[in-house]
Amino acid sequence: PTSKPAYKRVILKLSGESFCRNREGGISMTEVARTSEQIKAVVESGVELAIVCGGGNILRGKQFSAVSEAIQPATAHYMGMLATVINGLALQDALENAGVPTRLQSAIRMEGVAEPFIRRRCVRHLEKGRVVILAAGTGSPFVTTDTAAALRAREIEADVLMKATRVDGVYSDDPEKNPHAVRYADISFGDVLSQGLQVMDAQAVHHCMEHGIPIMVFNFQREGNILRAIAGERIGTLVHP
Ligand code: UDP
Repeated sequence: PTSKPAYKRVILKLSGESFCRNREGGISMTEVARTSEQIKAVVESGVELAIVCGGGNILRGKQFSAVSEAIQPATAHYMGMLATVINGLALQDALENAGVPTRLQSAIRMEGVAEPFIRRRCVRHLEKGRVVILAAGTGSPFVTTDTAAALRAREIEADVLMKATRVDGVYSDDPEKNPHAVRYADISFGDVLSQGLQVMDAQAVHHCMEHGIPIMVFNFQREGNILRAIAGERIGTLVHP
C-alpha cells in the first residue's frame, strides 16, 4: 500500500549484479523475474520508467582488458556494452512475462534485436506507458553504464536517477568494515564530493551534480523497495543538489 509516486519520469539503473545470484555472475532468470515483479508494481503506479542495464555480471571492459594484453581496451569495452544487450533481452522477456509492455533500445545499432536509441521515440514510448530498456550504454567505450544512466536521465528529462544496488544506501564509511558507519537518509552532492563518498562512478555523479539531477541509492533486493523508493519513501539515500 504505497501512496502516489513522488516522481513522474524515472531512470532506473540496474547493475549487472541484479541479473544474477549473489556474486555468481551470468544470468539467473529467477532473479530477473523477481526484479521484474517489482518493476511491474512501479509501472502500475503510473510512473514513466526507463531502465539502463549494466553488464558487470557478464563482462566489464576495464577488468577484462587488464588481465590480457591480447585484447585492446576499446574492444573489451565494446564487449561490455554487448553484455548489457544480453541483459536487456533477458529483462525484456521477464517483464513481458509479467505483463509489462516494453521496448528495448540499443545505443549500438542491432537491427533484429533492438530498436536504435532515439530520444524522441524513447520519450514517446514512456508516455504510452511502455518500459524502455536502454542497452549498450552510451555506445562509446571507456565509460560505464552509470555514466550512460546520468546522460540519459538528462536527455529524457527524468526527475531522478535511481541506482539499485545491494547496499542500503550511502554510508559515512564502508559498512562491511566499519560497524560505526552510518547511512545518510539524504546528503548533498557537495558533501558527497568533500567526503569522498562512493555513490556511483565519479563521472556520473559530476554530471548529475552539474545538472541538478537527484540520485537515489537504495537496495533493490528488499521486496517492494523499488516502488517505495519511487513513491518517495525514505529508504536508501537521496543525493540532492
Ligand atoms: N561500457 C562502455 N560504454 C558505456 C557503458 C558501458 O564501454 O557507455 C562497457 C564498460 O566496459 C563496462 C561494461 O560495458 O564495464 C558493463 O557496464 P558496467 O560495468 O557499467 O555494468 P555494471 O557495473 O552496472 O554491472
